[in-house]
Amino acid sequence: MAKQNKDSRCSFCNSPKQETLMLIEGMDAYICDKCVTQANVLLAQELGGKKGKAFDDSFTLLKPAEIKAHIDQYVIGQDDAKKVLSVAVYNHYKRLSQKIDKDEVEIEKSNIMLVGETGTGKTLLAKTIAKILHVPFCIVDATVLTEAGYVGEDVESILTRLLQAADYDVASAERGIVYIDEVDKVARKSDNPSITRDVSGEGVQQALLKILEGTVVNVPPQGGRKHPDQKMIPVNTNNILFICGGAFDGIERKIANRLRTQAVGYKVKKDEVDLDLKNLYKYITPQDLKAFGLIPELIGRVPVLTHLNPLDIQALRNILTEPKNSLMRQYTKLFEYEDVKLVFDDDVLDFIVNKAMEYKLGARGLRSICEAIMLDAMYDTPSDDTVKELHITLDYAIEKFEKADFKKLKAA
Ligand code: ADP
Repeated sequence: MAKQNKDSRCSFCNSPKQETLMLIEGMDAYICDKCVTQANVLLAQELGGKKGKAFDDSFTLLKPAEIKAHIDQYVIGQDDAKKVLSVAVYNHYKRLSQKIDKDEVEIEKSNIMLVGETGTGKTLLAKTIAKILHVPFCIVDATVLTEAGYVGEDVESILTRLLQAADYDVASAERGIVYIDEVDKVARKSDNPSITRDVSGEGVQQALLKILEGTVVNVPPQGGRKHPDQKMIPVNTNNILFICGGAFDGIERKIANRLRTQAVGYKVKKDEVDLDLKNLYKYITPQDLKAFGLIPELIGRVPVLTHLNPLDIQALRNILTEPKNSLMRQYTKLFEYEDVKLVFDDDVLDFIVNKAMEYKLGARGLRSICEAIMLDAMYDTPSDDTVKELHITLDYAIEKFEKADFKKLKAA
């Protein structure tokens, strides 16, 4: 071990001990605090780069069709949205691996807007994509965002979440995916800004613009309000993929209005007037988002627009059993841990789906209904070693469902 004295110097930068805050001893050498910091930065750059490279290599394996095939394992239906997402994500990551030189065509980033009723799988789609790609992912709720200076969270807090999801590895966060939920809630209340100017909604939209487009944002690492002594981390949002989602309640009326005007204004072929009135979402265009109250600049920065279909009885039925981690598979697994074989009769599944439709609970309600039916069994089985098989019949399901507090279900 090197012995320190007043003449000791850093073996890397040759600074004398007196000029350092701290000199650390090694076997035959010393290192000062400045060189430790410097080494740390080099390490982060080197390892951060390696992580990025490994990711690129593995990603080249996934083509849009393969991305969709993965999503299919978790998300039922929604083929249009899946296809659009797979292509957008593929192009986005192809763009990441592009080395920009002077003559090359620069591929622009393709943020995505998902429009569809609540509980149709928007968040699930975004989550599934992030899982497939092994990139940091976070969900933020647009309703808590406010313009700087108002009570609520600054738009920068979105990136704090992403940094946290990436364990503060900035390079990895800079390739991450952010899902902004309920983006429809920051819409202006009127199409015409001069009549009822909704400053707060529009302010948030303005603040979102620069983040969505790609810029370097100073992010408070612990979130919260910026204050002068907090050390900020610069994050470049150029390669972060933003997926926005919203139900846009009432937008069907705007779509219908537009379609009607078109139908009146132009001579339309018969089959074009033959609209699917149950699902107007599928005719959505950027124009409708503007009519709903999103500012054109924001719409422009989220160029990929797609819709999710409302879930019908068949879709709900499939959601119960088909996804890799479907509710039925989860319950079966839970009981397997207790060495109990769980069997559901088919008419129980129909009953669950019908109740979810009846109470307009959508896919989210399936879980609450299952919980109501399964609660007693999950309570009793672990303490009863004699049970080896549990058969859930329709009568059993009805009895347990009726016992459950219906009001509670409705609120779920
Ligand atoms: P949204 O974001 O559109 O409001 P979510 O993605 O949060 O809806 O869906 C809520 C839950 O409903 C999900 O966690 C999932 O269990 C289920 N779900 C909804 N849509 C689907 C779908 N298309 N396929 C499989 N599960 C779905």
